Amino acid sequence: MDNAAPKPLTVTGAVLDGESVGLRCVEGTIAALGPDVGPGAGDETIDAGGAPLVAPLVNGHTHAAMTLFRGYGGDLPLMRWLREAIWPVEAKLKADDVYWGTRLACLEMIRTGTARFWDMYWHPAASARAVRDAGLRATIGGPIFDAEGGTEEMKASALASLDELAAFAPRVGASLAPHAIYTVTEELLRWAAELARERDVALQIHLSETEREVEECVARHGARPAFYLDRLGVLGERTVLAHGVWLDGKELDLIAERGCTLVANPAANMKLAVGGFLPYPAAREAGVAVGLGTDGAGSNDSLDLFSDLKLFALSQRHAAGDPTVLPAKEAWEVATGARAPLLTAGEPLSVGGPADFLLLGRDAYELAVGDLYAALVYAANGAVVDTTVVAGRVLMRGGEVEDAAEIVAKAAERARRLGIG
Ligand SMILES: [Zn+2]
Repeated sequence: MDNAAPKPLTVTGAVLDGESVGLRCVEGTIAALGPDVGPGAGDETIDAGGAPLVAPLVNGHTHAAMTLFRGYGGDLPLMRWLREAIWPVEAKLKADDVYWGTRLACLEMIRTGTARFWDMYWHPAASARAVRDAGLRATIGGPIFDAEGGTEEMKASALASLDELAAFAPRVGASLAPHAIYTVTEELLRWAAELARERDVALQIHLSETEREVEECVARHGARPAFYLDRLGVLGERTVLAHGVWLDGKELDLIAERGCTLVANPAANMKLAVGGFLPYPAAREAGVAVGLGTDGAGSNDSLDLFSDLKLFALSQRHAAGDPTVLPAKEAWEVATGARAPLLTAGEPLSVGGPADFLLLGRDAYELAVGDLYAALVYAANGAVVDTTVVAGRVLMRGGEVEDAAEIVAKAAERARRLGIG
């Protein structure tokens, strides 16, 4: 991907909420949007021909390079999967493995309409390079673990990765990513929280994915996980909490008060059989910002956020025993980050906002009849996306992504090097 500023791009004949509009993008932002917008001299142009124009999806929690491990050991229970399958191959990972695994993930995300993702994985600068080359946006953090020692080395590597990631701004944001309360010591959690505040970067962490995590936290620290993290200064407006399956009402009130973002990962929760889902209606009631994520391809295994969107809506309705609990339009808003502003790059489809958008296929028969949002949530999958534009660059047009064959071949070669596939 050429990283020079793209020339202005103008889309005409797109349909936004039933109205035919044009959209002009200049230097990565939307300069004009409305019924009379047309191209300037020398613009790149797209005639949408009546295709629906929608905001892109935001994947609020993933481990992109785990595309290399898709399906590997996937029928094992969680701890055996980690110990016997994943950790031994992760020990052999090199930066180029992470680069090509992340390129494959970006390819899948471009094809299925995700413009931005939140990532936690080893060799974070290699992920950042992949995101830059693919043309997407991401907030990236290298995982921080020290439950079995190595605190000082972890601090040094977290500091180094913040500096490395800063070179990829603005499409890539740096973050700190302490893995979870059961893999990171109290001292290191406090340190990471302070550093995130000092450097003004986001902090991502897994929280309350399993009931066992809650029980151990209460036994060890005398508090449920959200209160324990708050005691260490971890909860703030730039904190992203992934999973949140076992949060109770008081924890949700605390999370809302601190302004954190919660990310639901329904497919990974079901695949790992954690026994529940993020309690979305209670989170909404408490005023918590909520987004949606796939988690890594090792535990989903898809990066098509449309499938998580359908599972999210179905699981929430099912868990509540109430089909009115989550209207389709609201589920769509969760998947596009409209209910979790931290996750997005700015207000989508607005003048002055990021030039990130999707044109849906005119031949997407699933969308031909009825309410668009209901169709997007329940009938569609990522294949309905025809055109993906991020920061004013056309990353996919007519379902075709540049260099796709090379990316797939390189990722497969790196997976074979690791003894997979
Ligand atoms: Zn995860």
